[in-house]
Amino acid sequence: MIYLDNSATTRPTDAVRAAVDLAMREGFFNPSALYAPAMAAEKEVRLCREAILKTLHFPGGKVVFTGCGTEADNLMISGTLASLREGTVLYTAGEHPAVKEPCLHAGSGITAKEISFDRDGRVDLEKLEGLLDSSVKLICVMQVNNETGAVQPLAQIADLRDRLCPGAFLHVDGVQGFLRVPFDMTKCRADSYALSGHKVHAVKGIGALVYGPRCRISPRLLGGGQESGMRSGTENTPGIAALKEAIASFPFEDVEKMRQCKIHLYHRIRELIPSAAVNGPDPEGDPSVSAPHVLNISIEPVRSETMLHALEGEGIYVGIGSACSSHKQKVSATLRAMGIAPKQAESALRFSLCPYNTMEEMDAVAEALKRHYDVLSRFSRR
Ligand code: PLP
Repeated sequence: MIYLDNSATTRPTDAVRAAVDLAMREGFFNPSALYAPAMAAEKEVRLCREAILKTLHFPGGKVVFTGCGTEADNLMISGTLASLREGTVLYTAGEHPAVKEPCLHAGSGITAKEISFDRDGRVDLEKLEGLLDSSVKLICVMQVNNETGAVQPLAQIADLRDRLCPGAFLHVDGVQGFLRVPFDMTKCRADSYALSGHKVHAVKGIGALVYGPRCRISPRLLGGGQESGMRSGTENTPGIAALKEAIASFPFEDVEKMRQCKIHLYHRIRELIPSAAVNGPDPEGDPSVSAPHVLNISIEPVRSETMLHALEGEGIYVGIGSACSSHKQKVSATLRAMGIAPKQAESALRFSLCPYNTMEEMDAVAEALKRHYDVLSRFSRR
């Protein structure tokens, strides 16, 4: 099997599985209880919070553990907008539904507006500037786009925010960037950051919202007051142990190798199928613009699903867009916002890598694509 759908989810590593096992066997105590083993469980939770803050260079920040990235995004967006009678919330054209939906379903006094993308799938800073005024209360921008791997210009966005609407919060959906693309919350002057365990070789069922002192978030879950009252419900200690281990053992030293694999895959595909077109920033271009793990390529005239299933027949798994929406969405909103022609968008495949992929796998995938392309393109309408 060759798995290139790591933006949908990742395989938990052996170290993560061992940490979960230990947390369930020996650390199963309720971290709110008062006896010593419970305090040890509570310490694990605290150490994970500290690891997250260290990774994000945000010493004064707070961490609330959630059930997933979606919940972290919802907590920040709905929890911030709930207390406002009026105002504007901005979100980029390529935001995941976890961000877009709570923006669109905020209270009746809140206006939601979309920030346009340029041809590479990055925020159009001029258009954004035109949207910023004192009515703006919250700006939501993803760190890395889940479909194209475009890294958003967050520092420039923070500069514009500081100049034109300093009171607005900047929320970063870091689900596709966490650990794979460095991020400094303090330098970037972001107010909040959402992350998800299952995208970084931890497990499903754990996410976190990181936020700074300016935020005023009203909790979405009321109850026993866990997580400093921000998210009632007994903490998912095995999930937190998994996330802590995933951070501790993440092979940062292999991120560059992963980028080289991505570039190799791109070269091999272009060599074998010269008409293949990249959707998103130049894979070989500025690393601060193109993430090391996502490559989106259209192979016209073969439709995405047809190629996806042809590859699946050989044990090769790739994506065609964001995993959560691929069942319902016809043409990706992100690709549409970039001005990609519908026919090109309908042939888009997303290859998303992890640091454990190899060059040999890239060769095998490019060669399989070529074989299927030669057959399928003859039967596809141009
Ligand atoms: N944000 C982005 C950019 C994503 O890609 C995803 C999932 O694919 C999410 C949020 C939601 O994360 P989760 O699956 O942990 O709810």
